[in-house]
Amino acid sequence: MKAAIINEHGSLNNIQVDEVPTPKISSSEVLIETKYGGLNHLDLFVIPGWPGLRLPMPHILGSDGSGIIKEVGDDVTRFQAGDRVLVNPGVGCGLCDLCLSGKQNLCRKFSILGENTSGTFAEYFKIPSQNVLKIPDDYPLDLAAAAPLNFLTAWRMLVTQGNIQQGEYVLIQGASGGVATAAIQIAKYFQTKVIVTTSTQAKIEKAKELGADIVINYHETPNYSKYIFKDITRKHGVDLVIDSVGQATFNTSLKLLKTGGRLVTCGSTTGPKVDLDLRPIFWKQLQIYGSTMSNHHEFSSVMKLVLNGTFTPIIDTIFPIDEIQAAEKYLSEGKHFGKVLVQF
Ligand SMILES: [Zn+2]
Repeated sequence: MKAAIINEHGSLNNIQVDEVPTPKISSSEVLIETKYGGLNHLDLFVIPGWPGLRLPMPHILGSDGSGIIKEVGDDVTRFQAGDRVLVNPGVGCGLCDLCLSGKQNLCRKFSILGENTSGTFAEYFKIPSQNVLKIPDDYPLDLAAAAPLNFLTAWRMLVTQGNIQQGEYVLIQGASGGVATAAIQIAKYFQTKVIVTTSTQAKIEKAKELGADIVINYHETPNYSKYIFKDITRKHGVDLVIDSVGQATFNTSLKLLKTGGRLVTCGSTTGPKVDLDLRPIFWKQLQIYGSTMSNHHEFSSVMKLVLNGTFTPIIDTIFPIDEIQAAEKYLSEGKHFGKVLVQF
């Protein structure tokens, strides 16, 4: 079968579309014929690799995908060939205490499709059946591929870790990627006042269309923290910050929090190392949470709201699979707003 692979870690030029063997499923897995794959910032970390990441090569990229079930394992009863599905890309072992108590994303063997295991950018991919969700007949497969990782990540950040409450000031740093487009919609669903920072006029318009109350261009308003603190929150401070930007924004995010405020981090697109001044953390009794992916309960909670139309996955561009290298380069340039997809 055709797949987007790397044979070794390195630059985006290492991505190739080549023939690899079609995966064989176990009794608890399903084989899915891919219709769309979704790009994530995670791809841009996996391709160069990092110390400790040891992947069998060739490695198939891609964490998000939608498609049609081709084959089901002997023990799978919930699905049959022909079902239209999307998937939760976070896979626990399914056997340990954490998995059995519904905390799959804390499992010691937790893996993400396309990160630690073979991904979705292939004509077929396999996944445990408990990670699969049937979609309504009229729900488009491109939207289905654009939803999972962004919405499950944003839901866990805001709802589980961030404990979002109606009426709060919620700041979403660096809105352009899929997680931010999901986070804006979820934060508005909980009737909060949503403040967003982003980089271009076009992104400002799009963030507003999604419901953001205040959108700030951080290039035009370099001292945006003062503006947020004094003019927007009237010195109250922000209740909850969602920060996936890391190095470039982390200290500003902390500074903007009210006493007792919460910050949730799920990534570090500008770099992972931050100089921290501990004083505001203990003086203001701030709460800092990490967040990665979601468990099955969070996944199904947010997907219900995606599939009934409450939330809309935002697609920026769809590339044919043969142009995967150009698609990843486009993602790396940061000009997108919403999800970049590849089509099979
Ligand atoms: Zn487990």
